[in-house]
Amino acid sequence: MEKGKYANIIVDISHEKVDKPFQYKVPDALEGLLFAGSHVQIPFGSGNKLRKGYVLELTDEAEFPPERMKEIAGLVKDGVSVESDAIWLAAWMKKHYGSTMIAALKTVLPVKQTVKLKEKKKITTIATGEELISCLGECQRKHQYAKERVLKELLREPVLPYELVTKKLNVSPATLGSLERAGLIRIESENYYRNPVKLETSPEQRNTLSPMQEQIRDTFLNEYRQGIRKTYLLHGITGSGKTEVYLSMIEGVMKEGKQCIVLIPEIALTYQTLLRFYKRFGDRVSVMNSTLSKGEKYDQCERAKRGEIDIIIGPRSALFTPFPDLGLIIIDEEHEPSYKSESMPKYHARETALALAGHKGASLVLGSATPSLEAYQKAKEGEYHLFTLKERLTGGELPSVYTIDLCEELRAGNRSIFSRILQEKIRERLARKEQIMLFLNRRGYAGFVSCRSCGYVMKCPHCDVSLSQHMGGKMVCHYCGYETPQPKKCPSCSSPYILGFKAGTQQIEEQLLKYFPEARVLRMDADTTKTKGSYEEILSAFAQQEADILVGTQMIVKGHDFPEVTLVGILAADLSLNDSDYRCGERTFQLLTQAAGRAGRGQKEGEVVIQTYRPDHYSITWAAKQDYEAFFEEELLYRELAGYPPVSHMLAILVSAREEKAGFNLAGQIKQELKKLKEEASRQMLQIIGPAKARVSKINDNYRFVIYCKHSDYECLVEAKDAAEAFLDRTEHKYESVQFDFDPIDSY
Ligand code: ADP
Ligand code: ZN
Ligand code: ZN
Repeated sequence: MEKGKYANIIVDISHEKVDKPFQYKVPDALEGLLFAGSHVQIPFGSGNKLRKGYVLELTDEAEFPPERMKEIAGLVKDGVSVESDAIWLAAWMKKHYGSTMIAALKTVLPVKQTVKLKEKKKITTIATGEELISCLGECQRKHQYAKERVLKELLREPVLPYELVTKKLNVSPATLGSLERAGLIRIESENYYRNPVKLETSPEQRNTLSPMQEQIRDTFLNEYRQGIRKTYLLHGITGSGKTEVYLSMIEGVMKEGKQCIVLIPEIALTYQTLLRFYKRFGDRVSVMNSTLSKGEKYDQCERAKRGEIDIIIGPRSALFTPFPDLGLIIIDEEHEPSYKSESMPKYHARETALALAGHKGASLVLGSATPSLEAYQKAKEGEYHLFTLKERLTGGELPSVYTIDLCEELRAGNRSIFSRILQEKIRERLARKEQIMLFLNRRGYAGFVSCRSCGYVMKCPHCDVSLSQHMGGKMVCHYCGYETPQPKKCPSCSSPYILGFKAGTQQIEEQLLKYFPEARVLRMDADTTKTKGSYEEILSAFAQQEADILVGTQMIVKGHDFPEVTLVGILAADLSLNDSDYRCGERTFQLLTQAAGRAGRGQKEGEVVIQTYRPDHYSITWAAKQDYEAFFEEELLYRELAGYPPVSHMLAILVSAREEKAGFNLAGQIKQELKKLKEEASRQMLQIIGPAKARVSKINDNYRFVIYCKHSDYECLVEAKDAAEAFLDRTEHKYESVQFDFDPIDSY
């Protein structure tokens, strides 16, 4: 319950019309009964006709003379409504993350857009097994990979959702059409989502839960049925059966008549995972991902509201699915940075889910092989209930890990990017026809262009970043989209030796072809995955063993199961340790552990080679030993010493300005405001760092400055944000803007 004499109320709550709140007086009878989201009756317009509206916020500041203000007529007695929940959540986000109410509402409300309902189709096999096998043989001879992919799946699964095949298996409608004409399959436009008929897949071969899995499910469900709602953290290595546990939890919660939201990072929303959900829950489950249009997303939300579905699976924004009776939120891979929004409000799905679960009386289950420090610390302190799954259920042993010191390689005269051991192991695998993944730990890296004579680096004229080399002699800025042809001569010294440094993965691909000319290599990076679906295409091609080696950035460590991969090479494990960012140790550990988890998922034993210049850095040694607990202890100590989250909280205040000087001045003024807060006895410990130029000091011709605040109490940072906001409200800033980022995951 919040307090305030006046209430800002919106009459129409749709994504487009939230920008017109009206202020009303709170009558004595309703004092203390209203909160953001309350559904109320108000006299509206000149005729004072009663209309329904929602309270956005309560305030003591009248926007116009109170004697002219109308009073709220009363509460609407319609029980809980999903709109009311959405407004409540938006208000929470506004307060917690610092954004406008409108930005927060736009985040939680789906864009209203009518869609032509797309017919949902399914593919049914009508041929016999032998016919499928004989056709499969023919496709293999003719190298018809897409056909091969779908035939293999049909042999396992006689009925498949059409979209799953076209989007996730990357098989074109034309290919499916030709299979239909050949009399092998039937494509039925029956609407399997809307039709309450289950997808008639082969009966799901249910795994009997392992004793550990069963114990986790039973503990959870027993508590659930007793009405206990809390947060659980499921810590288990990849392949230890977490997803299986989620399925069983959801089943139990659905039996109680409640709905579930399952968040999975987009990159891990694979064919295999989705099929498991479809098979268990049929038409009660729906998927929300970035390939859906706004209209389709709106439609999904409407269906959730009407109770046509019980489970939604999707990335971060699926959290805002308006289920009337939400009972459980699951966040898989909870440590993933993609759960933090990059635009205002810069919310974290984990914290927001926790707030939503509290509001709705739902439980929250977090899962990860490498939990975030935030979650694991809470679990150790008993705030979250910790479940652990220790063993892999298939594919037996964990891989053996070799750590190679690259300095020593160099001393021994090996200048190649592959250590001698890695070369030997690649050769072995190629001979045995097993698969290999090579992984470059580098974020957002693309080739930059520089002069070999004077070292001049080509930069974007609008941003403080170097331009990246692209196909066709172009250079592109990844921050603002600026494009320009690559010059023939150095603009600084006129030397003709102005060249692009190849993006890391491309270079590795070339080197591989030099060292192992017989190898079939696939490359996955920002360049090869630009077009829609290409990501899935590369992964499914590799899964079907259309290549021996997959080279990529961290994208390749997620998702698909590749049972034939027996060797994983991490080419330069420490590139991310050079980041200025306090999370780089955690990130390195996570990436190495996950990459290592890709080796030996099948029956054959796996090996991992980690190449590094810092073989004794703790995030590398503990990852090599796959010892999360030890890493956690050491990393937490570092965070404690340096005052970083989760031990302390941080707020980044980012000032952007057209004029450099104006930006710097504004940042300085904000700092002065923050210092006033420090005068309060309980806020003395507030640390204010900066202002300083941001790491990327200019984007799109806007100069950027950053101030960091640190305090162990989150509320104190909220007060700091409020103080900064109040100052900004009092003063005019036409060409400057300010953003807040709580517990940022990237440094500015
Ligand atoms: P995670 O989500 O931890 O990666 P999964 O639930 O996907 O783990 O399980 C990994 C593999 O083990 C999957 O192929 C799954 O079908 C299988 N699996 C999970 N639980 C069991 C079980 N109780 N018995 C047999 N196989 C299981
Ligand atoms: Zn030059
Ligand atoms: Zn630019």
